[in-house]
Amino acid sequence: MSKQPTSAYVHIPFCTQICYYCDFSKVFIKNQPVDDYLRALIAEWDSYGIKTLKTLYIGGGTPTAISAKQLAYLLDNLTKNLDLESLEEFTIEANPGDLTADKIAVLKNSAVNRVSLGVQTFNDRHLKKIGRSHNEAQIYESIDALKQAGFDNISIDLIYALPGQTIEDVRDNVQKALALDIPHLSLYSLILEHHTVFMNRMRRGKLNLPTEDLEAEMFEYIIDQLEQNGFEHYEISNFTKPGFESRHNLMYWDNAEYYGVGAGASGYLDGVRYRNRGPIQHYLKGVVNGNARLSEEVLTLDEKMEEELFLGLRKKTGVSTTRFEEKFGLSFWTRYGQVVRDLERDGLLIVEKDNVRMTKKGLFLGDTVAEKFILE
Ligand code: SF4
Repeated sequence: MSKQPTSAYVHIPFCTQICYYCDFSKVFIKNQPVDDYLRALIAEWDSYGIKTLKTLYIGGGTPTAISAKQLAYLLDNLTKNLDLESLEEFTIEANPGDLTADKIAVLKNSAVNRVSLGVQTFNDRHLKKIGRSHNEAQIYESIDALKQAGFDNISIDLIYALPGQTIEDVRDNVQKALALDIPHLSLYSLILEHHTVFMNRMRRGKLNLPTEDLEAEMFEYIIDQLEQNGFEHYEISNFTKPGFESRHNLMYWDNAEYYGVGAGASGYLDGVRYRNRGPIQHYLKGVVNGNARLSEEVLTLDEKMEEELFLGLRKKTGVSTTRFEEKFGLSFWTRYGQVVRDLERDGLLIVEKDNVRMTKKGLFLGDTVAEKFILE
């Protein structure tokens, strides 16, 4: 784990709306000190002296909520000392309503080569219900504008199992997503997080969520349709046309180390998982004092191994036992033999040569399978 990380995550915490389901580190952009924030972020970035990266990911919040000028400042400064030849993937998250022509021009002039668009649903009524400010027409406008600007590596996020959503709604969303003719899709089921509008509504009995059976039916439809249309289900929630896997996200699932920069960002360096200070003002002060971090956790060997399994099994390719043994210096089979055999017997895992991976049924059940390795 002592190798230099080759990935970095940069957090832009501003949003032009606050969605009802969201528990990310974010703040409504109005009256926020965005310029000060960007200067502090670049100071933290520069403190790492990063020269070479394979993947760089700007997430949020909504990175495209800032102005075109601020975006240009951010992108220029992140890449000013980087060897762009080795940068394979540079992703920015964007929201359909925020992608104006001047911001797309800035992206086009930068090293960004992948855009991940927070579509969530094509249904205007549902978009309103979850607190999003864009509409269906803006989704098409953004995708068209990005394609015209020469971006071919575009991904969208969709959420299913939304309140009041039916299987017909999901069918409609999947068909509209396919019609966009883009190479990558992420589909997440709605998760109720604490301190969100949705959690409050749920507590008051005012959130009409689909049943578990209906949610499973939705997921099954999604997998079938996308596979029939040339997408590979390469991770529990992610689907790709050949060659368009998110390299940055694969890095997370490979349990690799990475720099995390910005307010509330998490990083993993030298065996330490850390989290930066969240509220903007705390972060700004932290950077001035030379310590942006709020907490650090030195992982034990057991925790590192659990994470390796928990994250690795999310991928269709699973976990390599050889890699595991090289990394941790102990026998995979001594440690996990029993649990693997039990899950294999239940039809949830497959062992092929030195690879342990989920079956279709296992991928369908997602984290519940991976959790068995944590209880060990
Ligand atoms: S879901 Fe995205 S756009 Fe909505 S509040 Fe959260 S970070 Fe902002």
